[in-house]
Amino acid sequence: MSDTTNPANALVSITRLDSYDPAAVEEALVRLLAPLRGMKAFVGHGDRAVLKPNFLFAKPRQNAVCTDPEIIRSVARATAAAGASTVTVTDSPGVGTARRCARQLGLLDDESFDVVNVDKESGITPKGTEYHQLFLSRQMVEADTLINLSKAKTHGQMLITAAVKNTFGAVIGLEKAQWHYRSGKDPMDFARLIVHIHCAIAPRLNILDAVVGMEGNGPGAGDPRQLGFLMASTNGHALDHTLCRILEMDPDTVPTLAVAKEMGLLPSPDRIEITGADPDSLHPHPRWKPARPHLVQNMLGPSWMIPVIDRLMALRPNVDHSKCIACGQCIHSCAAGAMEIVAEGPMSQPRLEIDKKKCISCFCCQEICPEGAITVRAGLAARLLGLGTR
Ligand code: SF4
Ligand code: SF4
Repeated sequence: MSDTTNPANALVSITRLDSYDPAAVEEALVRLLAPLRGMKAFVGHGDRAVLKPNFLFAKPRQNAVCTDPEIIRSVARATAAAGASTVTVTDSPGVGTARRCARQLGLLDDESFDVVNVDKESGITPKGTEYHQLFLSRQMVEADTLINLSKAKTHGQMLITAAVKNTFGAVIGLEKAQWHYRSGKDPMDFARLIVHIHCAIAPRLNILDAVVGMEGNGPGAGDPRQLGFLMASTNGHALDHTLCRILEMDPDTVPTLAVAKEMGLLPSPDRIEITGADPDSLHPHPRWKPARPHLVQNMLGPSWMIPVIDRLMALRPNVDHSKCIACGQCIHSCAAGAMEIVAEGPMSQPRLEIDKKKCISCFCCQEICPEGAITVRAGLAARLLGLGTR
């Protein structure tokens, strides 16, 4: 068996699970964690354990926006049974609070854990980062045991959100949009920030809910997609890499995986030991639909033309005005100040407009729009050339 504490090796456990039936989830969790020596390998007696689900915003469980409540419940009970003195579920959602998400998911009346909002912050400077200081959830930073409970979804900028991207939720509220703005102009810089945050909060265990994932216009407004499995690993990068293999995506195109490789955090594929279900038996049919067109920038032309081509080809947020209700939520997520609601005359309907010159294509707006009114679209030139299709 691989040494799960050595970054040169990783063990990824996969188990099939077709529904969120409570008894089936409980059994699947035991099966999933057995190769990793069970929950007791991660929870010391008397530990203050913290579970970090994906609570993007409050939506019913059938929308597959959040980690399923039955997974959260089952992991919380297993954590308590393994000896934790307290089990806390917390997150810093894109919109609203952790308790609001938990209420929507029916998680507020379970006595085995508490759901708390991230109201305290801890300023830290991750090792090796050029970023000055990050304000992260103190509950997550100071937990004796942090368990990362992510959901398999598409993402406009990072392509997937699974174990590593989920830990960006440790950033406190509005700081998130600011960091997106400061580092999000280049997806690789933003990926570097996410990987540093993942290292800083260092989940002891990563569990992925891929029973029902989200494809298409994720991570907030895509389509729920039955995938039928759970995955776990102490190495979040190896877990994400294995998810790419299952979804038939090139891992080198996922910015957080490219950065993890560069930083020596992702073991080479032959050093990732996979146990349980065969990943090649889990490919979705028909194929998984991404959140955005394939990368089209920098494909052709001499170097002097590249900025022009990039501008014409670049991926941009696109507003579907038939779906937009002009609620203005996306405006709060846009640290570039590129969005506003305008009404041309007293009788005209308010309409969301995006200033293309200010927009940095970070896709925070697409991530949090509750109506699914924003999609990621390739630039005009790419569309005319028939490129940039999904
Ligand atoms: S795009 Fe979405 S979040 Fe933004 S104003 Fe329209 S409905 Fe609201
Ligand atoms: S308009 Fe959307 S994609 Fe553009 S900078 Fe604002 S949040 Fe980011």
